[in-house]
Amino acid sequence: MQLVYTHENKILVENARNLLRESGIESTLKNEYAAGAMGDLSPIQTWPELWVAEADYPKAKAIINDLINRPAGEAWYCRQCGEENDASFEVCWHCQAER
Ligand SMILES: [Zn+2]
Repeated sequence: MQLVYTHENKILVENARNLLRESGIESTLKNEYAAGAMGDLSPIQTWPELWVAEADYPKAKAIINDLINRPAGEAWYCRQCGEENDASFEVCWHCQAER
């Protein structure tokens, strides 16, 4: 397994995971619940991490790079709950409704 992406914001990590899944790449989320049990750990150690198989890593990394480098577009509003969502989100951060 290789670490392909990590971010302080779990929503962004889950968004990346969704993108990988759509491309047929299975990933494993680590530290998913760590943020709630931060304790003595430094914040960086509690960031959620996205891990993929070695064989999937190059493709996964390319997808993640595309995501990171995607130009910021217009924010959008969820039809279901009305929350504002970042342009890079594929689903609502609040209620997980499709864009
Ligand atoms: Zn919503």
